[in-house]
Amino acid sequence: MPRIVIRSSDIHAAGCFALTEVPKGSRILEYTGERISKAEGDTRYDGRLFTYLFGIGDGEVVIDGHGMAMFVNHSCDPNCEIEETKGRVYIEALREIAAGEELTYDYSLYDGADEDPAICSCGSENCRGTMYCPEEVEKRRRAAAKAKKRVGLAAGNNGNRRTALGNP
Ligand SMILES: [Zn+2]
Repeated sequence: MPRIVIRSSDIHAAGCFALTEVPKGSRILEYTGERISKAEGDTRYDGRLFTYLFGIGDGEVVIDGHGMAMFVNHSCDPNCEIEETKGRVYIEALREIAAGEELTYDYSLYDGADEDPAICSCGSENCRGTMYCPEEVEKRRRAAAKAKKRVGLAAGNNGNRRTALGNP
């Protein structure tokens, strides 16, 4: 596997950098960690803003990340991608990566906490502003619209009640 190093990153805290040129398609790192159920993961990380859970297969099993792969940051214009093979998860080069470049992949987060916008600061031209996958972005947008509508309806009901009281 190519040589890599963890050091401070402009994207977020610490990042993972290539020390040498990495050819396209190379397997760089394995996303290692304990395999636990999704429910166990939710319990373990309840209330914590940052988690390193990685859903595999149908998402019922998650990897509780432990190791260098945890330090690979998200980018909306990544140079790596995730390759899942037989329950194991690898980070592979999406294109040729120059020595010194920070490794990134698209987290495509899902199942986020309501209050967590998972803001992205990758700085790429096509940054979508969040680390959620497009489907999750759409789901959250719909949920927010629904919540707004509920508030609107509640206000409407109050209004009607007041009107009824005012005109006995
Ligand atoms: Zn971004």
